Amino acid sequence: MPIRTLPPLLINQIAAGEVVERPANVAKELVENSIDAGASRIEVLVEGGGCDRLRVSDDGCGIPFDELHLAVAAHATSKIGTLEDLDRIASMGFRGEALASIGAVSRLHMASRTASSEAGGSITTEGDRIEGPVPIGCPPGTTVDVQQLFSRTPARRKFLKSEGAETRRIRETVQRLALSHPGIAFTVASGGRILMELAARSEPAERVIDVLGKELRPELLEVEVERDGVSLWGLVGRPSIARPTSRHLQLFLNGRPIVDRSLVHAIREAYRGLIDPGRTPTAILFLEIDPARVDVNVHPTKSEVRFRDDRLIYSVLRHAIMDRLAAADLTPALRIDDDPASRAAVLPSRGVERSFGARSGPGHEHRTWTPVPGEGPRGFDADEARMEMQAPLLATAPAVPVIQVHGSYIVAEDEDGVLIIDQHALHERIMFRTLLDRVTRGTLDSQRMLSPIVVDVDALQLEGLERVGPLLLKLGIEAEPIGLHAVGIHAFPVLLLERRVDPVEFMGELLAKAGTGALPPDEETALQETLDMMSCRAAVKAGDHLNEAEMADLLRQRDLVERSSRCPHGRPTTLRLSIEDLEKQFGRR
Ligand code: ADP
Ligand code: MG
Repeated sequence: MPIRTLPPLLINQIAAGEVVERPANVAKELVENSIDAGASRIEVLVEGGGCDRLRVSDDGCGIPFDELHLAVAAHATSKIGTLEDLDRIASMGFRGEALASIGAVSRLHMASRTASSEAGGSITTEGDRIEGPVPIGCPPGTTVDVQQLFSRTPARRKFLKSEGAETRRIRETVQRLALSHPGIAFTVASGGRILMELAARSEPAERVIDVLGKELRPELLEVEVERDGVSLWGLVGRPSIARPTSRHLQLFLNGRPIVDRSLVHAIREAYRGLIDPGRTPTAILFLEIDPARVDVNVHPTKSEVRFRDDRLIYSVLRHAIMDRLAAADLTPALRIDDDPASRAAVLPSRGVERSFGARSGPGHEHRTWTPVPGEGPRGFDADEARMEMQAPLLATAPAVPVIQVHGSYIVAEDEDGVLIIDQHALHERIMFRTLLDRVTRGTLDSQRMLSPIVVDVDALQLEGLERVGPLLLKLGIEAEPIGLHAVGIHAFPVLLLERRVDPVEFMGELLAKAGTGALPPDEETALQETLDMMSCRAAVKAGDHLNEAEMADLLRQRDLVERSSRCPHGRPTTLRLSIEDLEKQFGRR
C-alpha cells in the first residue's frame, strides 16, 4: 500500500481508540467538560449501558453559536492557547480532542446556549457528516447527547462487559469526579431509575461521606497537611473498614482523579501492620500542587500523571496518614450480640473520632513519643515505664490491670469499660516501636562479646550474611564468617539479650531468610521485617506468667506506643467491651 495521508474521520477514530475505550470514558470526558464550563448541576442519562445513549446536561457557560462547529472539531479547545499554558493547567480538559473523537465513533448531538444569548444552537455529527449549527430554543447550558456509541466500530463493542457492568462503571466515574467537586450537584439515571443523586455541598468532607455512606462516618479520620508546597487533605478509614477491593481508595491531584501506583504504595505503607495485606484501606485524598510541578499530559485520558518531585509527595502522603492513625484510638470493640453465631465478633470501633463540620488541622490530637536514650537495667519496660511518668499528655486515664487469664490475656479496666489484651501481641508491638525508634535514633546499644558466639551455618546462610551486611550494621550486630560453616557474633543488641533472645537462633533464622531471598530487597522493608522477627522473639509469650507490676507496666506503655491496638502483623492487640454493652447485656437499660 502506498503511503498516504489518512482521512480526518479515520484520524479521529484512531484517536478515539485512546480516549474512549468504553462508555464510561465518554461519560468522563463529557462530565469534565461540564465541570470546566462552571456548571452547578450536571445530569447524566444512561441507556443500554451507555452504548445506546449517554446524555450529559449542564447549566454551565454554554458555547456561543458561531463556535459550535469548532467544539466538535479535532484539536479545537478554548482552554489552552500556548505551550506555556500546558504548564499551568487548571481545567480538566485541554487536548481539544474528546468531542471530535466521540463524534467519530457515535452519533453526537449537542445543544448549547450561553447566558447572554436569547436562543441556543444545535449541531449534530455522525461519522464525518456535520449538520448545523442551527438555532434552537433551549435553557442556558449545554447538553451533549451521544447515541449508537461504537456502532461503526464493532470491534470495540465486543470488548464491552454487560450493560449493567458498563452502567456501573459510568456511575463510578461520575462519582469519582463528584468527589473532587462537592459544590456541583450530580445525578445519574438509567432505565427510568435514579442511580445516584448528590446534592451540592459546601464541605468537601460532606461529599465524601455522601459517596462512601453515612454509616462510615465514625470510621473516618481527617488528614490535613501542608509541606514544601504540597497540600494534602482527605479522609482515611480506620483499619477496621479496610476492604477486599480497592474501590474506596481514591487519589486526586488538583481536582483530577489519578491512578498512581507509587502513591497507592505510600498509603498502603502507612497502614502497614494495621490491616491484612490482602485488604485495601479506605482513603479519599486530595493533593494540591502547583501545576508547573506536575505533567498531566502523559496519558490521553490524563488519569496518569508525572510528578517532578515524586519522593516528596510519597513521603508527605505516607507520613500524614501514619501520624493521623497514630493519633487515633484504633481499639476495636468487642461486640456482644444477640446472635450467638456472631458473638464476640470484632466490629468497627467506637464513637465519632471527631466531626467534620469545619476543616481544621489534625495536629491537636497527636501524642508524641519521645523515648529516653539508654537501656533499662532489666526487664522489658523499665525505660518505658520511666518515660510514661514523664509523658505530659495522656488524653485518657490509663487502663488498670485487673487479672491475667489463661496466662495469656490481661483483663483491664479503663473509663469506657473493659479491655481484653493479648499480652504477646501488645508487647510485640511495644518492642517493635522501641526497637525501631532506637535504630532510627542510633541509640540501640550493643553488647560486645568476650569471645564470639558461634552459629553453625550452611552455604545459603553464609551467602545471606553478605547480603545483610548494612542491615546488621544498623542493628548493632557484628558478625563474621568463621571458615565455611560457621559465623561468629561479636556484638548483639543489649535489649534483646535482656529479653533472653537467643543470638544463635535469631541469627540462624535471619541468615536463612536472607540466603533464600525471603527478605525484601528494599532496605526499609527488610529492616521492618527484621524488627518484626526481633520483637516477636523478645516479647512475653502466651503462657508467661505476669505479676501485677509487670501487667501495669505493659498497660502504661500501651498508651505510649503508637497504634498500640494492633500488633505488627495486623492482628488486634486489644478488644474493648464497653460499659454500655455490658449494661445492655445485663438488661440494666
Ligand atoms: P477540551 O475539553 O480538551 O477543550 P473537548 O473536545 O472536550 O476538548 O471540547 C472542546 C471545546 O468545546 C471545549 O474547549 C469547550 O470550549 C467546548 N465545550 C465542550 N463541552 C462543553 C460544555 N459542556 N459547556 C461549555 N463548553 C463546552
Ligand atoms: Mg474536554
